[in-house]
Amino acid sequence: MDNQSLKGRTLYIPQMNYAGSRALAAVFRSVGIDATVSPDSDPQTLELGGKYTSGDECYPEKVTLGDFLKLTEMEDFKPEETALFMATANGPCRFGQYSIYIQKVMRDLGYDDVMIFAPSSSNGYGAEGENATSLERTAWWAIVSSDILQKMLLKTRPYEINEGDTDEVFKKGVDKLCHAIEQQGATGKERLARIMEVLTTAREQFHQIPINYNPEFPLIGIVGEIFCRLNNFSNDNLIRRIEKFGAETWLSDITEWVWYTKVEHIRRLREARKRFSKDMLIAKIKNSFQKSDEHKLLKPFEEDFRGYEEPEVSELLDYNEPYLPCPPGAGGEMVLNIGRAIYLYEKGADGVVDISPFTCMNGIVSEALYPRVSRDHEGIPIRTFYFDGTQLDLDRDIGIFIELARNYKRKKSKKRKT
Ligand code: SF4
Repeated sequence: MDNQSLKGRTLYIPQMNYAGSRALAAVFRSVGIDATVSPDSDPQTLELGGKYTSGDECYPEKVTLGDFLKLTEMEDFKPEETALFMATANGPCRFGQYSIYIQKVMRDLGYDDVMIFAPSSSNGYGAEGENATSLERTAWWAIVSSDILQKMLLKTRPYEINEGDTDEVFKKGVDKLCHAIEQQGATGKERLARIMEVLTTAREQFHQIPINYNPEFPLIGIVGEIFCRLNNFSNDNLIRRIEKFGAETWLSDITEWVWYTKVEHIRRLREARKRFSKDMLIAKIKNSFQKSDEHKLLKPFEEDFRGYEEPEVSELLDYNEPYLPCPPGAGGEMVLNIGRAIYLYEKGADGVVDISPFTCMNGIVSEALYPRVSRDHEGIPIRTFYFDGTQLDLDRDIGIFIELARNYKRKKSKKRKT
């Protein structure tokens, strides 16, 4: 992260997903930074985003820019008191240009004083400066915990008897999680204990939701571009629509991406002949702490997530290897998509949906490989849904896909282990 001070500014976090963005804002609040999420996306988001993009940019950029521009339309907007959070990455992907482009648009509009706060994937999104270690560790707890709540939501909601029960428990859980995270002055031990308490209570509340479990529901793995697959506005609520057709989903979460960036960081250090360097030692120590913290947070959910275990990134890269030359030949979501599709097949999923923005480089490469992946794995249905903010007859396509998944479920050899 850069060293510019956030003091006196409100930091706005884009709402990539409901739980993760709120939890991340709470992390910043825990060290005294005034942080909140960007405004909810709506038609005005696309109108404003469309006004300052040419169509060459990726859809997630249009959405995040549009939401940030909504801030500038507010009566009390003060550029000098505003900071915009925009993670970035190196490499050929257009994602690396988002923060630069947002800065340019703000400047063109005369808002030079708006600060763009851009941590990078090149160091595994590691924090620097004052409060860095505790901020980074709390951020990790926030990511893992919000992913856990989201996973409980997705495995419960398709079977709820009373519509809305699961969303309510989920949202309450997220609020309480944020409250546990944001407490200033708490030691790491106290904060972790509070987070664990919130997760355990939320677990009990998820269990109290009246459900009618149906083993006939196919399980659909969701892969794809990280923003589009996690952001319900961008993907036109695809997951909820799939659920309406009588199916359950298993969504690739934020934790997967963070682990991937960590694996990549270590690979780059090796490539730079820093195998025995201080940087490598720090990276390895951090990873081992984070692995152990993740294990602690997941422990109460061992039974809930049986059959839904998350893979190691190395396993995904191994599955991907016959299809795409692994790093440095290929990288990013495309290798995770292919590896994850095969992992899902091995776990007994009944279909894989890739959610990607229209013209997404990762989506296009993955889509070209899916027919071969499917052929090599008993014909498991895999389909890409592209999004660019225009309306599609999604339900017809989902209906056809779920029918394919049901047929596959009847004849597949890989049974689910739950
Ligand atoms: S992953 Fe796709 S949508 Fe995201 S920046 Fe790259 S090309 Fe654009």
